[in-house]
Amino acid sequence: MSCFIVGLTGGIGSGKTTVANLFAARGIELVDADVVAREVVEPGQPALQAIAERFGAKILGADGSLQRAELRKIVFANPEQRIWLENLTHPLIRQRIIEQLQQAQSKYALLVSPLLLETNQRQLCHHILVVDLPESLQLERTARRDSNSLEQVKAIMKAQANRAERLKQADSLIDNSQPPDALASQVDKLHQQFLSLANAFDVNR
Ligand code: ADP
Repeated sequence: MSCFIVGLTGGIGSGKTTVANLFAARGIELVDADVVAREVVEPGQPALQAIAERFGAKILGADGSLQRAELRKIVFANPEQRIWLENLTHPLIRQRIIEQLQQAQSKYALLVSPLLLETNQRQLCHHILVVDLPESLQLERTARRDSNSLEQVKAIMKAQANRAERLKQADSLIDNSQPPDALASQVDKLHQQFLSLANAFDVNR
């Protein structure tokens, strides 16, 4: 049985990792869906074998690892391939997330995921925390971090829930429209709130 789970989400470049690290510094264990998504396609994993069979050996690098940029190009241009890939990987990712959350020892745990609200990962969470900021800032920070063009970032943002959709589903919000030093006090407050919710959760189960 897992502890109280807070789902931390927000669009690409919204500041999920930055915020998650602040919770980690307060002793809270994290499961990062992006990390898990990479683990399920590591060399030796059955999913990588299936991907290589479908798209050919060109999808693998010389060391046998997945050429993620190559795969992204294929699936972003072709919805049918994207659905195939999601049907393959999403159940595996979900299973690993569940296993890792069950091992968490902190009072509550965070599931950090860009696609929390778009997938059934949402059902693994007792509380949804959204990192919020104007889409223009999100675009600017992501383009700077990844040295991607604004067009590329816009394409990724289009495949994710938009700001209004996220806000509708949020139980709590973090405003990340200010400089990073505005985050700590917000995280402190939320951390106290989540500790109380986790206590109530433990008492009631
Ligand atoms: P995500 O994990 O949601 O993709 P990150 O935490 O990596 O987002 O943040 C995206 C980029 O913006 C990173 O380069 C990060 O250092 C930077 N960043 C995060 N929060 C702020 C902020 N409040 N002000 C300026 N830059 C920020």
